[in-house]
Amino acid sequence: MALRKILTDKEDALHKKCRPVTEFNGRLHKLLDDMAETLEEANGAGLAAPQVGILRRVVVVDCGDGLIELVNPELVETSGEQDGPEGCLSVPGKWGMVKRPNYAKVCAQDRDGNWFEVEGEELAARCFCHELEHLDGHLYTEKVYHFLTPEEMEAL
Ligand code: ZN
Repeated sequence: MALRKILTDKEDALHKKCRPVTEFNGRLHKLLDDMAETLEEANGAGLAAPQVGILRRVVVVDCGDGLIELVNPELVETSGEQDGPEGCLSVPGKWGMVKRPNYAKVCAQDRDGNWFEVEGEELAARCFCHELEHLDGHLYTEKVYHFLTPEEMEAL
């Protein structure tokens, strides 16, 4: 495994639509392993492949219940609403308030190409929505209605 460099929102890769994964091979497994290590090192909740410069539909999420690998993920169901602070490893030093669904169900493939469903509430739902948007070149900052002040960030 190896750490990958996390790109910031100034890089083109963060603003492009990613292509589906079609080959579930050693290269994909290495990418997933590297992304997991990079996410852990950065102490983040989620990481999408474009954040490490790979324009493929691959996401890793860890909201405290263990690592989830999502290949070619699609949001299939959402409900409710939550409102809270959100940050992004590609937008360092910023936090903003974003409204998200409180529940989200995702359909995705695992590293071997098997389809499965995963659902989450609160932080997990927020994380799924945030990471999946990366795959279409969108950043949470587009949805922020208030960026936190340094004092508000201190209180997080
Ligand atoms: Zn992000």
